Amino acid sequence: MAEPGPVVTLEGVTVTYGTNTALRDISTTFGAGAVGLLGPNGAGKSTMIKSLLGFVVPNQGRMRVLGLDVAEAPLQIRARVGYMPENDAHIPGMNAVSFVAYCAELSGLPRVDAMQRAHEVLFYVGLGEARYRNVETYSTGMKQRIKLAQALVHDPELLFLDEPTNGMDPKGRDEMLELVRDLALNKGVNVIVSSHLLPDIEYTCRDVVVMDKGRVVAHGAIEGLKQPRGRVFELRVKAAGGPERFIEQLRAAGLECHATDDDVMRVFVPGEGGAQRLFELAAAASVQVRHLRPSVPTLEDVFAQAVGEE
Ligand code: ADP
Repeated sequence: MAEPGPVVTLEGVTVTYGTNTALRDISTTFGAGAVGLLGPNGAGKSTMIKSLLGFVVPNQGRMRVLGLDVAEAPLQIRARVGYMPENDAHIPGMNAVSFVAYCAELSGLPRVDAMQRAHEVLFYVGLGEARYRNVETYSTGMKQRIKLAQALVHDPELLFLDEPTNGMDPKGRDEMLELVRDLALNKGVNVIVSSHLLPDIEYTCRDVVVMDKGRVVAHGAIEGLKQPRGRVFELRVKAAGGPERFIEQLRAAGLECHATDDDVMRVFVPGEGGAQRLFELAAAASVQVRHLRPSVPTLEDVFAQAVGEE
């Protein structure tokens, strides 16, 4: 069977807000299944999603979604995609089931079908019991769930989820991530999940597009990106005045480095001879190595490397 083409393609896309450039000449693709859109706040993730939906018009570039050109067919695209925005988007005074049914009607479903689907998706996202309550009485976690419900109600082929776990407690977050996985793995929906949280992306997605400061800095299968082009070490040091200066020195020597909990830093040493290099740099900086252990690269290492490449 032929490989399916990309679900989303961007070619040379630049978006500016006044003098602020949010997307800088972006060319990338999103394949089928669940793909993460990972980057720190302000990287341009929401802007990319809004551009793909036709809400923000780029200064330059072309985009295709589900084989359709965004500039030429934004309404056809919108009928086939669902969007869970980052900010609240409910209508005050409306209960959940009326709101979600209304969203379904806006997407073109007849009234009876819209109401039936609204009940179904509210149960699916875990709001069955609360479906007759007004949405403004909902907790943050429930508001996230209803945003997912309205994105799903018209049975889209592609879902854009913008920071879906924002503001959720750990249990709610786990449940949201399970829903995202279920949609992609069992329901055959293509999902683009934007997040600044690495564990969320690693748990839900096979592929990732990593963004920083308006650019794509890494792109591909998460497992592939984690294959080392060097070695990663866990390191704990004793340094007069704290490890910050040593971290700066490691970075100046071309070693990506980030602190984790428990006083341990993770250091990526490109090429061969990793441990030796670290000992030499520590000796030169009069820093005592307390703990050094080779480690398996994580998505966080990939991210640190990608974002570190200016
Ligand atoms: P992310 O979703 O990764 O947090 P955004 O796409 O929201 O990033 O923002 C990218 C950049 O564009 C940021 O510098 C942000 O301040 C800016 N930006 C976003 N929306 C607007 C807007 N409506 N007007 C002006 N600047 C904006």
